[in-house]
Amino acid sequence: MEIQVLRPEVASRIAAGEVIERPASVVKELIENALDAGATAIRIEAQEGGLAWIRVADNGVGIPRDQVPLALARFATSKIRTVEDLATVRTLGFRGEALPSIAAVARVEILTRTAAETEGTRLVAEEGRITVGPAASPVGTMVTVRDLFYNAPARRRFLKSPLREAERIRETVYRYALGYPGVAFRLILDGREVLVAPPGTPLERAAVLWGREVADALLPVAWEAADLRIHGLVSRPTLGRASRAFQYFYVNGRPVRSGLLAVALERPYTGRLPPGRYPLAVVHIGLPPAFVDVNVHPQKAEVRFSQERSVYWGVSRAVEAALADFPRAEAGTAAGRWPFEAEAPPLPALAEPSPGYGHSGRWRALAQLFQCYILAQGEDGLIVVDQHAAHEQVLFERLWGGPSPAPLPSPTVLSFTAREAERLEADLEALQSLGFDVEPFGGNAFIVRAVPAPLAGQPVKALFDIACEELSAVRRGGGELRERLAMRLACAAAVKAGDGLSVEEMQALLDALQEAWSPAICPHGRPAWFVLGREEIERRFLRR
Ligand code: ADP
Ligand code: MG
Repeated sequence: MEIQVLRPEVASRIAAGEVIERPASVVKELIENALDAGATAIRIEAQEGGLAWIRVADNGVGIPRDQVPLALARFATSKIRTVEDLATVRTLGFRGEALPSIAAVARVEILTRTAAETEGTRLVAEEGRITVGPAASPVGTMVTVRDLFYNAPARRRFLKSPLREAERIRETVYRYALGYPGVAFRLILDGREVLVAPPGTPLERAAVLWGREVADALLPVAWEAADLRIHGLVSRPTLGRASRAFQYFYVNGRPVRSGLLAVALERPYTGRLPPGRYPLAVVHIGLPPAFVDVNVHPQKAEVRFSQERSVYWGVSRAVEAALADFPRAEAGTAAGRWPFEAEAPPLPALAEPSPGYGHSGRWRALAQLFQCYILAQGEDGLIVVDQHAAHEQVLFERLWGGPSPAPLPSPTVLSFTAREAERLEADLEALQSLGFDVEPFGGNAFIVRAVPAPLAGQPVKALFDIACEELSAVRRGGGELRERLAMRLACAAAVKAGDGLSVEEMQALLDALQEAWSPAICPHGRPAWFVLGREEIERRFLRR
């Protein structure tokens, strides 16, 4: 279709709002345009977190010379014409707002060519002036955006550091790369190639973005009912993360955020995944466009379903079916405590441990490397364990598992500042639920009679200092207090890089790690170990 300016009655129906908030929003809009143009390869580059410049190049259909200036006009789009079209859009864009919004706050250059043209077009838009001329260009489109918010200093000040903005760009690219595995993506930040994802299957794409180890622990989801089709990948219950950061949902190919979808995803994991852990997921929801209103959010990050319940129900059903082979703990056990209590049912068998996952056979400690890593022999090869991450995971799970207080040789009285005392008093329950036996002792003092068994032997005052720090930290919405405390304390009490360990100590840690629920990942989501398998070793010796 040609680019045309929408008639006012159509334009007025478009959810208004700020489209461009930060460099990552520019990247999002340009990637969406590339996908809408049928690109099979997209390259994203940014300098200084996009504050200096951003460039997105695609091999899509390009824009014909005579239409290039129109692309920058407000409400000019090739994707819809009428109000009725709004109900059936299949493209990611449809408002004709992105390019003009970007050009209003930055210097924009577009280089483009269609297959029908022998010569490409260059458009430069700066401070409201547009110049267009011929230029050499491959088929496709390359948009460069420089000096974002150069004319809006207040908004520029509102941005985070280049590092943080770069991180948001990376998140944005990952989101589309995960959702569109058939499209090649490259991401270059400050001249460094941080992502090269060739076209592949969803699983191959997950392996590129999340690593082999994680991809091996993903299960396919495929479920259909009437008009609803749900497919994607979810993690086995043997794998979990400490946050929802690894959950991606797409509705008809459009990335969406939704707490309710997360709930629908997580319900089937109840009793299968330890509390405080969240599944990883890439879930596509396909349904007729008429059942989804995509026009409710200025950045198109949220959608409204006309049949909400059936969508959530469908997601739960689809995930439940994918997890069918994984036994679930009996219902009725206290949600926060299971499965760590003594009387709880035995750990459900970790069904079909993937090869290389290490649950088969005991790992034998061999040596310590750089006073940082434990080398162990396993059935599948050489296991390299990050001693701190591993210990942290073990301690975290034990702490999380519920109170097992270890009495101190003699009660200890600790005094705090008035402010700290106030915080402690307010959140005493969280500490007690982890196994601290602690009570106010007059003034700003507290008496401690026991600490959680996993932390026994640690200096008591230091543990409380860490707890106080965590209690007063104003956190960006993340996680429950008890979980955060458990994470911080586990991190503080775990062996550090640089600590020498005897073979016996290493063996004890390996045994505990193999018992852990999520042995492959520390509470912060970093891997705790990997296997150097036979294949890899043989490849290195050129035997394969
Ligand atoms: P929208 O995507 O909502 O239509 P945009 O402002 O993002 O609005 O883009 C305006 C028009 O410019 C699009 O409708 C499309 O025709 C054209 N266009 C933008 N980017 C590209 C691209 N990368 N390849 C081909 N055409 C593009
Ligand atoms: Mg667009």
